Amino acid sequence: MEKKSDSVVVVGAGIIGLCTAYSLLKAGRAVTIIDREGDSQTSCSYGNAGMVVPSHFIPLAAPGIIAKGLRWLANPEGPFYIRPRMSMDLVRWCRLFSQHATAKHVDASCELIRDLNLESRRLFTELAKDLEVELVEKGLLMLCNSEKTLHEEAEVAEMANRLGVGAEVCDAARLKELDKGIQMDVKGGVWFKDDCHMDPATMVTSLRAKVKAMGAEFMIGAEVSGLSKGSNGMVKLEGVDLPDDQEIVLACGAWSGELMKTMGHRMPMQAGKGYSLTMKNPRELPELCSILCEAKVAVTPMGGALRFGGTMEICGNDLSVNPRRVHGIVKSVSHYFPNFQESDFAGIEPWAGLRPCSPDGLPYIGRVAGSANLTVASGHSMMGLSMGPVTGQVVAEILTSNTPPLDIRKLDPLRFN
Ligand SMILES: Cc1cc2nc3c(=O)[nH]c(=O)nc-3n(C[C@H](O)[C@H](O)[C@H](O)COP(=O)(O)OP(=O)(O)OC[C@H]3O[C@@H](n4cnc5c(N)ncnc54)[C@H](O)[C@@H]3O)c2cc1C
Repeated sequence: MEKKSDSVVVVGAGIIGLCTAYSLLKAGRAVTIIDREGDSQTSCSYGNAGMVVPSHFIPLAAPGIIAKGLRWLANPEGPFYIRPRMSMDLVRWCRLFSQHATAKHVDASCELIRDLNLESRRLFTELAKDLEVELVEKGLLMLCNSEKTLHEEAEVAEMANRLGVGAEVCDAARLKELDKGIQMDVKGGVWFKDDCHMDPATMVTSLRAKVKAMGAEFMIGAEVSGLSKGSNGMVKLEGVDLPDDQEIVLACGAWSGELMKTMGHRMPMQAGKGYSLTMKNPRELPELCSILCEAKVAVTPMGGALRFGGTMEICGNDLSVNPRRVHGIVKSVSHYFPNFQESDFAGIEPWAGLRPCSPDGLPYIGRVAGSANLTVASGHSMMGLSMGPVTGQVVAEILTSNTPPLDIRKLDPLRFN
């Protein structure tokens, strides 16, 4: 087999690609980062809700989600939608998703998701210090409008405490005590104490500058059109001019599945489109980030601004904005924060991003069996920001010592091949 060089090419300059580059540079590797975009045009990592969520240890594929999803499908302003289209990939993805929406799958994966998120949370503290980016470490509130949801969230809180993730069930008075910045009209909620938040665009932009300063080369405007494998097992990137003796890390977010297909590998991936709206001068500014549970809307203070994010539309790699779904987000806010009005959102341009969603709700991280130099870091769905630093660390360990710090067999990129 041909000798590999010490250099690594990272495809994708979103949070996952940049965190991977950061860890590799710290481990002494030379890194080239390729991205077809110069800035934030299509990356999902800039306009998201900015939350780091050890509280999210339950994968997206979980019991009850199918029934809820079917109810939401009927509502054009609801938080979930699948655009019907003739696509075997979509049919296969949906089938795998429903096969994994079981208690058995949740039991089998929640400890791994917890470990990844808690380690990432720890690494974020170090990273934020290194980059001098503000990390607000006050926790996250799950806010509930109905007794039924509060009961469900209290069950999750109990499970969280069993797993070592700090959670407190709160009545309305306790919530008020925790966040004096905003008036709430809710039945109660859960305070997840270990969660934290940041402005993701500041984090990504600072990380980009940092890895550049550490010596990373950037190839911006370069698009990888495919992957091909030589007889020696070495994978080559098509469409870009680079030596083919290097390690490759595929961190292309929602587009990673398509690239894997060009090499004949099935790594099921659907883009889960979401929107965010950032209010520059909100009437009230909460201190903690929160999730409006029934509406599935994330709310995050970012400096003096307030960001609202939500919806999950499975409709291909399409970044167009659906105004009715955006209205669904806007409409929900005053049900929890009564001092806000729909007119507060007038003139705010929605941002759209594509979450890279695997059908079992677990990311794809690891070497690709059968190839000598290809590693995948993708499919983080709703937790890509949260799991950025730990993904970088795991990939760097795989490439330097071949022993990842955690048992990541469940994250095998070819587990559905
Ligand atoms: C509304 C919303 C709110 C969210 N809130 C949170 C949150 O609070 N916390 C959290 O943890 N996560 C959140 N997420 C999810 C998170 O944003 C994603 O999981 C994460 O950004 C994915 O990062 P990535 O690096 O894998 O992909 P991206 O950021 O999408 O980066 C992929 C990059 O690859 C490049 N690329 C793709 N194909 C090619 C190619 N062929 N050649 C060259 N370059 C290519 C693209 O240009 C892009 O820059 C949210 C998502 C949305 C939509």
